[in-house]
Amino acid sequence: MHRQIKGFRRDAETDWVAELECGHNRHVRHDPPWQERAWVEDREQRESRIGTDLDCVRCERRDSA
Ligand SMILES: [Zn+2]
Repeated sequence: MHRQIKGFRRDAETDWVAELECGHNRHVRHDPPWQERAWVEDREQRESRIGTDLDCVRCERRDSA
């Protein structure tokens, strides 16, 4: 389920979290080589992704339940 990104924040472990329009949050960790998200460390690149879509796993689970 694609949801629009409303903003970003850091969680208690300083990992980046995307705040989605549905109210859910999704981690967007930069943790190479498993997860390559160098963009999340850069403020401009983060802001450029606000308004774009991200898959919301929680919404997907709710819909299939
Ligand atoms: Zn959701």
